[in-house]
Amino acid sequence: MVLLTPGPTPIHPLVQAALAKPMRGHLDPETLATNRRIRGYLEALFGAGEGALLAAMPGSGSLGMEAGLTNLASQGDAVLLLVNGTFGERMVEIAHAYGMRYTVLRAEPGQPIDPEAVRRALAERRYQLVTLVHGETSTGVINPAAEIAALVREHGAYFMLDAVTTAGMMPLSMTAMGVDYAYTGSQKCLSAPPGLAPFALSRRGRERLGKAHVPGWYSDLARVAVYWEQEGYFCTSPVLLHFALEEALRLALEEGLEKRYQRAKRLYGQVLGLLEELGFRAYAAPEARLPTVLTVRPPEGFSEADLRKGLYQRGVSVAGGIGPTAGQMLRLGLMGESAREEHYRVFFRALGEVMGKNGLEEAFLERTQPAAV
Ligand code: PLP
Repeated sequence: MVLLTPGPTPIHPLVQAALAKPMRGHLDPETLATNRRIRGYLEALFGAGEGALLAAMPGSGSLGMEAGLTNLASQGDAVLLLVNGTFGERMVEIAHAYGMRYTVLRAEPGQPIDPEAVRRALAERRYQLVTLVHGETSTGVINPAAEIAALVREHGAYFMLDAVTTAGMMPLSMTAMGVDYAYTGSQKCLSAPPGLAPFALSRRGRERLGKAHVPGWYSDLARVAVYWEQEGYFCTSPVLLHFALEEALRLALEEGLEKRYQRAKRLYGQVLGLLEELGFRAYAAPEARLPTVLTVRPPEGFSEADLRKGLYQRGVSVAGGIGPTAGQMLRLGLMGESAREEHYRVFFRALGEVMGKNGLEEAFLERTQPAAV
């Protein structure tokens, strides 16, 4: 099966091999040495600066989200949630579940958050924390994180960035942008198996740890730090996933984040160009297209469910819409190992069969491998 969903992503053979290493204890010297190397790699991934807490929580990306909200704001603190899709809405659900005092600023699905609207919202009241999803997977929109971070910094609030569809596939610098907390899921742009939520908490953000009340135990980052920094017991971590994550991070950084970004962008343009010729229409606003998640509405006469089913029967797994986009679109992943020409070649071969059109694979090859002169 060729995995072209927006996560999980295909796993590199070296990452797969790391999963087959012999089991070790969570406090075994080899595991702890792996953890130290992971922290070094996470510094390069997030650019979190001196004194940041770097770690990977045992859980999925949503745990990273929940931990950010509960560690950076206490009950009663005002929180501003910037929302333009399902994963922004998830932040609202979490804030609601914890009884936080939150305000939601929404943009239409398919549109980015407008920094001017954020400026106005920040002028109205004092916030402790502002949250943003960098790349909204449900719509394929990238939000102007750097511009918004600058406004939040001026305001004095903490800024939390969901980097689930961006970290590992584009250069990020939390210090340059002014981000206090960022997280991802191991199964997305890093192409490791699901099960870990790598994150970085800035020096400024971590000043709260151990002081402010956190309404939870497992997601209390002060406890997570005991394991990752003091190398003491917090919980039994998924050691084999640590081995796989280390290898995935090593591969990503060896390739280089800028190169990976260009790889995703180039393939996005080639895939979208051919899909548009077939009558598909891009969903995300042209100025805000997330290079790691391509969202398209099917042409007249084709339903997204039938297309997905036909592709799956031919060994290609893609996703449909979720939340506001359910039933309206296909979502194609271009994260990590999914952003490879050979996989999209298989995709176009299968799509040609499903749509009854000849020559799609060849047409794709013409775009990706221009004839030599
Ligand atoms: N944030 C974004 C932008 C996502 O795309 C996802 C998952 O797709 C999540 C958060 C939640 O991650 P997980 O499904 O690993 O809990």
